[in-house]
Amino acid sequence: AWLRICDRLKAEVGDVEYQSWIQRITLGPLDDDEITLYLPERFLRDWVRTQYGQRLQTLWREETPHVQHVELKIDKKAQRAPMSNGSHAPSSKSSHDIAAFAREDAAALDAEKETSPTAASPSVDVRNDLAVPLDRRFTFDNFVVGKPNEFAYACAGRVADQPASPGFNPLFLYGGVGLGKTHLMHAIGLKLMSRGNISVAYMSAEKFMYRFIASMQSKSQMEFKEQLRSVDVLMIDDLQFLIGKNSTQEEFFHTFNALVDAGRQIIVSADKSPSDLSGLEDRLRTRLGCGMVADIHATTFELRISILEAKAKASGTPVPPKVLEYLAHKITTNVRELEGALNRLIAHADLVGRPVTLESTQDVLKDMLKAHERRVTIDEIQRKVVEHFNIRLTDMSSARRARAVARPRQIAMYLAKQLTSRSLPEIGRKFGNRDHTTVMHAVNRVAELMEQDPGLAESVELLKHMLES
Ligand code: ADP
Ligand code: MG
Repeated sequence: AWLRICDRLKAEVGDVEYQSWIQRITLGPLDDDEITLYLPERFLRDWVRTQYGQRLQTLWREETPHVQHVELKIDKKAQRAPMSNGSHAPSSKSSHDIAAFAREDAAALDAEKETSPTAASPSVDVRNDLAVPLDRRFTFDNFVVGKPNEFAYACAGRVADQPASPGFNPLFLYGGVGLGKTHLMHAIGLKLMSRGNISVAYMSAEKFMYRFIASMQSKSQMEFKEQLRSVDVLMIDDLQFLIGKNSTQEEFFHTFNALVDAGRQIIVSADKSPSDLSGLEDRLRTRLGCGMVADIHATTFELRISILEAKAKASGTPVPPKVLEYLAHKITTNVRELEGALNRLIAHADLVGRPVTLESTQDVLKDMLKAHERRVTIDEIQRKVVEHFNIRLTDMSSARRARAVARPRQIAMYLAKQLTSRSLPEIGRKFGNRDHTTVMHAVNRVAELMEQDPGLAESVELLKHMLES
């Protein structure tokens, strides 16, 4: 039953969360109707209890009806997955690895309780502590600007130059995973700090939350609040993690108000706009939306190419344009993965001492690209397109040539080519047995039109985005 529960949780929360939290649970004894689960540290126990306690209980009841209660306890020896980083010293890990912070935080909290006075005590100053995780690589210079992110980039630049100027406070950046929100926040922080004595606190909403919880446990809430309220710029990344966490939201709201009233800058990121973040308290939502709200849109093919070009150039290893195009076609949702793929290619080439080629790319990235094989079907594409343009599904395969139906049909073919691994003849068959040359023509035509007509390009990108997510 436990393995099944683990599997279900893994499917629900995703690999990163699973590995960071759930995987650290060990199964304890079953006593009557109560099962005990162990975690190696108090902090982890508290976190798992607040985040997953209810869900664990429900799952147990579903899997094993005679288990009615789940008890979470601390057992120092119950260390199943060893910490990836044994030392408590700040490592050079990349700062968007929230899970790594969590582990480090947990370790630090534990150390706080247990270390002897001679051991280096963890920093308690929020400001020093939080200035650390800014990633030096995430500068404005290293950020590639294109249509989808130019507005967010401009807003970030403005805030870095003139923090807390009216209309830009708070700055709310939002967009999908891996599109550069954290990068821009760090860029602002780095630029501000490079100009002198300004205190910048950057943390993920998760970190904010467990700082807050930890301060309650150690009865140092006042200290925590004072430290937070003494910074010049407060950045909270991935605010969506505060959804439903009411006491933490409340604390954030008060901190927020105190800082804005004192003329300090707040920068927040999330995966959705303030109005779409359901589960956020209304007054907080309102406050968040009253400064500048900037959307980072999904990348376009062009932006992906520019990003790849910039990163390939910086690496010093030559990468043929064909390979860059191939990657930009295959990996469309997430810049982080795009970057990861490129890094892997370059590392491989350096290692074996052979240049990067299209063949080597396909070979080296086989498994990675497999995961990216989109599971979008042509039927789904047709349904979405039909819905979007308000035409009938039969128009996808009909012979009607009126622009109002022919254009959406071409767009659907284009999307089918882009988003599925179907061949042109296969696509043709799904569109009323059209010839593969018709499909090819449609694909080229839409690509051409997207160049000329930004409105159309936007609709197509939007459809693509909806189909992929
Ligand atoms: P998010 O916080 O939105 O999930 P990140 O800021 O962590 O995304 O970006 C993921 C990775 O992609 C980072 O390594 C970042 O440097 C890179 N990245 C994202 N957008 C760009 C861009 N426009 N130019 C250069 N690198 C980018
Ligand atoms: Mg991020």
